[in-house]
Amino acid sequence: MRPGNIGYEDGRLVVPDRPVVAFMPGDGIGPEVWEGARPVLDQAVRTSHGDLRRIEWVELPLGQSALSTHGALLPDSTVAAIRDLRVAIKGPTMTPVGGGHRSLNVTLRQELDLYANVRPVRYFPGVQSPVRHPERLNAVIFRENTEDVYAGIEFERGSEGCAQLRQAILALGCEVSSDAALGVKPISRGGSRRLMRAAFDYALKQGLGRVTMVHKGNIMKATEGAFRNWGYELAREDYADRVVSAADGPVPDGAVLLEDRIADAMFQDLLLEPQLFEVIAAPNLNGDYLSDACAAQVGGLGIAPGANIGAGVALFESTHGTAPDIAGRGIANPGSMMLSGAMLLERLGWSEAAALVVDAFARVLRSGRMTIDLAAGRDGIEVLGTHAFSDAVRDAIRNN
Ligand code: NAD
Repeated sequence: MRPGNIGYEDGRLVVPDRPVVAFMPGDGIGPEVWEGARPVLDQAVRTSHGDLRRIEWVELPLGQSALSTHGALLPDSTVAAIRDLRVAIKGPTMTPVGGGHRSLNVTLRQELDLYANVRPVRYFPGVQSPVRHPERLNAVIFRENTEDVYAGIEFERGSEGCAQLRQAILALGCEVSSDAALGVKPISRGGSRRLMRAAFDYALKQGLGRVTMVHKGNIMKATEGAFRNWGYELAREDYADRVVSAADGPVPDGAVLLEDRIADAMFQDLLLEPQLFEVIAAPNLNGDYLSDACAAQVGGLGIAPGANIGAGVALFESTHGTAPDIAGRGIANPGSMMLSGAMLLERLGWSEAAALVVDAFARVLRSGRMTIDLAAGRDGIEVLGTHAFSDAVRDAIRNN
């Protein structure tokens, strides 16, 4: 291991005082929001640790810029370097719809086996929300990241693969229309259990009281129903007295209650009783929909952070897209990138620096200063560009 590289021993990261961490600005507004986030992260480390600690950032090629410099949107060297360095952060990358290349995010998650997508959802006072009590939603979503209909096993209508799969399905006695395109939805016991384990461990570590599994097991019994059953099974086998279901009787002090909800009902419950949810565990597709719905409920995607976690490797990312409509104008909100960076600092074990970022970000918003996406149509707001907003958060950390 090179000096500065983060190690991994006995299931834990070993972080030097000057760790090498990778960044990939990405496409569209990616470089702008990264330029807004990076000084804030560096300031937080400086304020909490002085000269003792510092992140040694190293840029890796990814996206459209990598295509021109390295001849590939996702060079093999980038995947290898993230694996080697263990902690990385990226901006959004462009994905064509209904054809063209596969999503680089999906490829990265699968290549690096980043099996848990982690999305904290919380409300920041000062931000406008479409609901009356956005502050009641404060949850962390654990979304399975490698399986389900996102596994990429799809066959176009009329293709040889589609014909073969259809024959196999007919041979099993099931009906499939001859003009159907086909996709496969794998959900494994191992994949479900490791996702659930991450959610349980998080809830226990943070002292939270409830994990809710969200599934559509009433319809897709063999896949989503099994996801739910494997969660209860894991709790019984490996978390006795620490993660319990209501059927097990009263919840012991300090234990986590494990429950489940049908996905469609969950969208209603999140609006009507958001305070019931603390940690949410879901298969890939449900988790994808839930993450964006929850982000919208507390005021928008522009400030929702995210992380993709595997065994010993973590990739943090802004959750919004490349926003081609505003790219290059210096008005993008760097909040999602900043808060993803705060999650990165937390991952390094630098909790104080992470808290400084979140707190300073919250104070700037509360003071009525924000980017145009959050300010549009509102009175009494000071609209800041990406750079000025970043400066404001950095100053708030300095004046902490
Ligand atoms: P988008 O998130 O880029 O934009 C949706 C709307 O939100 C736009 O009006 C945009 O201006 C606004 N917006 C998004 N982020 C913002 C920010 N930080 N500050 C201010 N406004 C912001 O979604 P889209 O238009 O559906 O997708 C555009 C491209 O991004 C597509 O190619 C898509 O595949 C890609 N995408 C990438 C990721 C990722 O890499 N993680 C995620 C989503 C979409």
